[in-house]
Amino acid sequence: MDPELGEGAVAFLIGNNDVAATVEASYFVSDEILDLWREEGNPIVRIWEDRFSMDEGYMSLVPEAVNGLIKKTGTKISDFTRAVVYGPDSRRHRDMIGKLKLDPKLVQEPFFGKMGNTGTAFTLQLLTSAMESVKAGDKILLVNYGNGADAMVIKATSSISKASTTRSLGKYLASKRIVGDYVKYASWRNLIPVAEPARRPPDEMPSPANLHRSRDRNFRFYGSKCRHCGTVQYPPTRICASCNTKDELDPYRLSDKPAKLFTYSYDLISRTKDPPVVVSLTDFEGGGRTRIILADGDVQRLQRGMPLEMSFRKSYYYPSEGITNYYWKSTPVRVE
Ligand SMILES: [Zn+2]
Repeated sequence: MDPELGEGAVAFLIGNNDVAATVEASYFVSDEILDLWREEGNPIVRIWEDRFSMDEGYMSLVPEAVNGLIKKTGTKISDFTRAVVYGPDSRRHRDMIGKLKLDPKLVQEPFFGKMGNTGTAFTLQLLTSAMESVKAGDKILLVNYGNGADAMVIKATSSISKASTTRSLGKYLASKRIVGDYVKYASWRNLIPVAEPARRPPDEMPSPANLHRSRDRNFRFYGSKCRHCGTVQYPPTRICASCNTKDELDPYRLSDKPAKLFTYSYDLISRTKDPPVVVSLTDFEGGGRTRIILADGDVQRLQRGMPLEMSFRKSYYYPSEGITNYYWKSTPVRVE
């Protein structure tokens, strides 16, 4: 199934006021079926025989939900401006569009071959893409599948035009990089074991007390800004490096500041699943410079002065303690 699948996540802000879209109506069908499943802790998904899964599951339950919604609300399929429909793969998706008698021109592109089926997140990711092309008053038919099927009417409000599309799904897909080596991908996903480098000193154990004390610095990425001279520093300090004032510095958030690459170095022997490790000196707009690992950067393309942004990453997992460390990295700006 590998060629059909993708990995992804999506998040929505839910509210009562000034929302970009509302859920006007919904209809749910529930059914217990083992068609596609994954045991807890197992990275591999399993499927049952295709014809059973499709005939008894997807092809049967999705129309039931859509017909139920249409009957419940008195709407017609032609009332919808856009349709976002889950599909396990491109062929079944196409079959379903025909079965539901939807105009293919109004159906959100499912990005098979560009993103793949990301499972739980998939349909809602497609919804974000569809929402970029609708205007106030437009109705979207949203259809999801999994142990049953959900059909919803989503209506765009007059606030839809204010919604930002800077970090849209389409732009992310357009800016993607290809991992040319399947072994590398499989090692990143812990699907194949990778030998630890030899002659490493033992890891220092992480301390929950220390992690808690330094949460502003490490998780929120706060530096400090001097009240007297305005100098920004990271890590935060008690004494200003410019005017030597003591304890007159305020917390200052750097995670959201545009940045530039001042300079960098890289090496091929540091422990990483994605060599080389690039260490950057990153300058922040408005002040502040820090030494930080630069991720997702193709060394051949790095240039002094190139725009960077901050990205919160999983930094290291300590299997003996079951603790995962998170920290920030700088990355080349992915989506303008
Ligand atoms: Zn100062």
